[in-house]
Amino acid sequence: MIDVNEALRYLGASGADDVLRERMQQVARDAEARFRPRYIYRVSAVEHRGEGEWLSDVQLLLPGKSAGKMLAQCHRAVLLVCTLGSAFDSAMRMEQARDMSRAVMLDVCGSALVEAGCDQAQEEIAARFPGMYLTDRFSPGYGDLPLEIQPVICRLTDAQRRLGVHVTPSLLMNPQKSVTAIIGLADEPQRARIRGCAYCALREKCELRKGGHSCDD
Ligand code: SF4
Repeated sequence: MIDVNEALRYLGASGADDVLRERMQQVARDAEARFRPRYIYRVSAVEHRGEGEWLSDVQLLLPGKSAGKMLAQCHRAVLLVCTLGSAFDSAMRMEQARDMSRAVMLDVCGSALVEAGCDQAQEEIAARFPGMYLTDRFSPGYGDLPLEIQPVICRLTDAQRRLGVHVTPSLLMNPQKSVTAIIGLADEPQRARIRGCAYCALREKCELRKGGHSCDD
């Protein structure tokens, strides 16, 4: 489930030698055996308003250009929270006391595992809405979408009660390996604005790409 290449990239070690790759694989296997991402999500209708994207079922306004761009063709959006839970934080503290280099690897494996949990949630959402197309998921802090939306997503999904996730007054997620995200749902294939051309459903026909450009140029 953990993408070891992604974990190595988080570490800034994409060109890792076999020894480092093997160590990372071991830590990843351990992490997969011990921690399982859990997630919750809530779906809302979207109205495009002058002041931003209005998620009417949850009464949430997503202000700014970034959310507007991501949800431009969407008439529904999903609020998602995914976490590895507090057990991961305890394991990190133990590992930091025992072996700092392994702790660093566990940290990036945790990040990759929580992303894998989000991928799994996306697959479930896609299956629940056949014939609809998902946007890339994006999180508060992306572009001009304020980080202050993070605690609001947790409140609207009841994440504290259901997953034990909350956001501190300084806007940090607790437990540490927790993610809030937004995913749009549209009737047409969506450009992979964040993950890039390699993941884009439009890549074979895309004139932008043929011209050597991308969506965000
Ligand atoms: S440039 Fe084209 S292929 Fe690349 S992400 Fe945008 S729409 Fe997709």
